[in-house]
Amino acid sequence: MTPAEPLFFYRVDRETSTAARGVVGSGAAPARSRRTGFERRERDGSQLLRLSFQIAFVLLNVWIGARFYLFVRYFETGGQTLRVPRPPGVEGWLPIAGLMNLKYTLLTGDIPAVHPAALVLLVAFLAMSFVARKAFCAWLCPVGTLSEWLWQGGEALFGRTFAPPRWLDVALRSLKYVLLGLFAYAVATMPVEALRAFLESPYGLIADVKMLNFFRFLGTTGAIVIGALLLVSVVVKNAWCRYLCPYGALVGLVALASPLRIRREPEACIDCAKCARVCPSRLPVDRLVTVKSAECTACLACVDVCPAKGALAMTAPRRRVVPAWALAATLAVIFLGLVASARLTGHWQTPVPDAVYFELVPRANQFAHP
Ligand code: SF4
Ligand code: SF4
Repeated sequence: MTPAEPLFFYRVDRETSTAARGVVGSGAAPARSRRTGFERRERDGSQLLRLSFQIAFVLLNVWIGARFYLFVRYFETGGQTLRVPRPPGVEGWLPIAGLMNLKYTLLTGDIPAVHPAALVLLVAFLAMSFVARKAFCAWLCPVGTLSEWLWQGGEALFGRTFAPPRWLDVALRSLKYVLLGLFAYAVATMPVEALRAFLESPYGLIADVKMLNFFRFLGTTGAIVIGALLLVSVVVKNAWCRYLCPYGALVGLVALASPLRIRREPEACIDCAKCARVCPSRLPVDRLVTVKSAECTACLACVDVCPAKGALAMTAPRRRVVPAWALAATLAVIFLGLVASARLTGHWQTPVPDAVYFELVPRANQFAHP
C-alpha cells in the first residue's frame, strides 16, 4: 500500500516472492515473464450467471416501480384508478429510513412498524457484503447494473473508457465516504424518540411517494444533474458507484470484514494482466496476491477471463475456492431467506390505513422534511 492509498481503497498484500517471477534483488519493478506450457482453462460462465441476476433484479425493480406508481395514482385520483397493493420492496430505495430503523432496532430491540422492509433489505445487503464482499453492487443493485451497461456501451462506441489521473481519482473516491459520513452522523445524533417521530410523521410515512415524485416531476436542476451523471457514466467506468454512492461506501466498508478474497497464485500465473485489464474497479489484480480492497465488487470478471488454470479464484479462508454458483447461491439464500422471514413474522408491510393515504398522497409535495 502506498501512502497515497487510504486503507479502505487499496488494502492489499503485495506479492513478496520476486524470485517466483524471476526477479532478483529489490527496488526494481518485477519483470513481466510470460510462462509457456501452462495449463489453459476455459471461461467459467460466471458472467452469464451474474448477468442473469442483474436482469432479474432490474425486472423486479421495474415491476415494483410500476405497481407502486399504480398504488400512488389510486390515492391521487381519490380511488378512480386500479387499486393495487403497495409493494413493500419499494423501501429498498429508502436507505436512510433503513438506517434509522436499524438504529431504532439496535437500541430498543423492536422492529418499527413504519418501513420495516427498508430495515430488512438494508440488513440483507449488509449481510451479503459481510459474507461475499461488495457483491450486492455487481450482482443485484439496479443502479450498478445501469452504470455497468452505460460504460460497456461507451466502450463499444468509443473503443475505450477514460479514467481521471490518480490524484483526482483518489480525491473523488473520498466523496462517497463524506456523503456516507453526513448521513450516518445525522442518524447517529437523532435520539430514538426523534427517529420514531420522524418515521411516523406525514413526511416519513410517505417518504416513498416523495421519492417517486422526485423522479416523476423532475425539476431542471435534477434533470441536469442526472443527465450529467448518465453522460459521465458512459465514458468513466461506474462513475456514480465509484465516486458518489454512499450506499456503495457503506457496503464496501462492511466488505472489508468479509472472509472472501480474490486470490492469485503467483506460481500458476503467467503475467498476462488480463485480470487487471478487465477489472471494472481498476484494481491491479495481476500485481496482488489477495485483493482486499473495499472497491472489489466480487464480480468475478477477473476470474472468468484468467487463462491459466489455478492462477486466480475467489477464495474462502484456507484457500478454499468459492465457485460462482456458490457465491450466487449465497446471495439468493440471504436475500430470499430474510425477505421470507420478514413476511412470515409480519415485519414486511407498513400497516398504514387507506384513509391516511387518501389524506397524505395527493398532498405529498406539501410535506417538507421535519
Ligand atoms: S474484476 Fe476481480 S478484483 Fe476486480 S472487482 Fe471484479 S472480482 Fe474484484
Ligand atoms: S489473468 Fe491475471 S492471474 Fe490470470 S494468468 Fe493473467 S495475470 Fe495471472
